[in-house]
Amino acid sequence: MMDSFDQALTEEQRLMRQSCRSFVDQAVIPFLREEWQREWQMEPEGRLPEGILKAADEIGIRTLGVPARYGGTELDPENEVRSFALIAEEIARGDSGLADKLVQNWKVAVLLRNLAPEHLQERWFTRLVENPSFLFAHCLTEPKGASDRWLPYNVPEAAMDTRAEHIDGGWRINGRKHYISNGYDAGLYVVYANTRPGSGMLQGTSSFLVPRETPGLEVVRCNETIGCRFMNNGEIYFSDCVVPDDHLLSEGAALSKAAVYFRPGKIIQAAKNLGVGVAAFERTAEFVQTYERGGKLLIKHQVVASRLADMATRIAAIRSLLNQAALAVDQRSGDADALCNMVKVHASQEILGVCQNAVELHGGMGAMLDVGIEKLYRDATIFLHMDATVDISHFKIIKAMFPETAGAYAGPEA
Ligand SMILES: Cc1cc2nc3c(=O)[nH]c(=O)nc-3n(C[C@H](O)[C@H](O)[C@H](O)COP(=O)(O)OP(=O)(O)OC[C@H]3O[C@@H](n4cnc5c(N)ncnc54)[C@H](O)[C@@H]3O)c2cc1C
Repeated sequence: MMDSFDQALTEEQRLMRQSCRSFVDQAVIPFLREEWQREWQMEPEGRLPEGILKAADEIGIRTLGVPARYGGTELDPENEVRSFALIAEEIARGDSGLADKLVQNWKVAVLLRNLAPEHLQERWFTRLVENPSFLFAHCLTEPKGASDRWLPYNVPEAAMDTRAEHIDGGWRINGRKHYISNGYDAGLYVVYANTRPGSGMLQGTSSFLVPRETPGLEVVRCNETIGCRFMNNGEIYFSDCVVPDDHLLSEGAALSKAAVYFRPGKIIQAAKNLGVGVAAFERTAEFVQTYERGGKLLIKHQVVASRLADMATRIAAIRSLLNQAALAVDQRSGDADALCNMVKVHASQEILGVCQNAVELHGGMGAMLDVGIEKLYRDATIFLHMDATVDISHFKIIKAMFPETAGAYAGPEA
């Protein structure tokens, strides 16, 4: 029997969800159960078997958002963000790091199809489609900090340290980006750099396409993270790294142009986060209905029932807010900015609570690496930081709701 959420799905969405669910149940969950140690391999190249990305590719979810004329999986534009959310949730129900790997491709695809010239779309989308291991990455954060970018703190002193200067026939980039999802593995990077040193970042930030093999680009390390470990987060140096003129995506106004990516990005974050919570709930629900203590199944103990109900309620509440926010982004409604930040930040706090309940209800098993419940808790912590912190997201919500009176939240008030 369909539940109330299923009834609202289109046929396309139902089919996509079904194929994602089968992929997760048949390929991802068995892999994690049998090879949980791979998460801790210190050679990032070998962590995720190639076959998993290949299988994801076969059901078309590695190239979502890439125009069909280049062989990608185009979604109905009216529901695109809701479909991204649905698929992200399903994949993260299997593994959140794998979902991260894939969604970077979707988010950068949205950016490229809006900003890149046709010949570069053809070149890079074709390479992405042809090679099942090919990944995109989006490089905004640098050691100087990301919160100032998200706010944004629009003064010259807060501009990026990464610089790009125009030279004959191209742009020379120098700087360093860190904490970048897919940063260790990507074949193509979108890189943000300061091109007008005297300006604030809203006028002085430009974005570039930088292929991995460009001389001067060096992937210096894989950042070892508490969760989402299959995503291979990376740090990248740019030292006199020269890209041709046509690799400039946006000059000066790159941060405003990236808005096409930011809103779907928040929705996708919340959806992945929801998927982690769903996995924690499903595993806990099964456990408490099969495990006995005090002479009866755990679910028959009132406090256990109460905690399980709390987990289910938080998940249902996040799903409702997510649907509302994704609809607002699809429809470009006036409240889209506030809603997409609300759901991203609220999911990060609520799903962490869901996962804490899962860890506690599993007793000692909740702490064992080979059981995999602690992994869900670790994966959930990552969402507090990705795509802006909790406090910065709160500032964004108030700025979106009360633009005339909200504070600057960095530096002096104007
Ligand atoms: C797993 C992971 C994946 C990521 N992937 C990417 C990626 O693909 N691309 C990318 O560009 N970045 C990525 N990031 C970076 C992420 O966006 C940033 O870590 C995040 O925005 C926080 O920025 P920061 O680490 O520089 O913290 P900071 O900006 O240094 O913040 C530190 C603390 O200060 C607080 N703070 C900062 N400014 C203010 C203020 N004005 N008022 C009050 N409090 C303030 C923050 O809330 C936070 O608590 C990723 C991060 C993680 C952890």
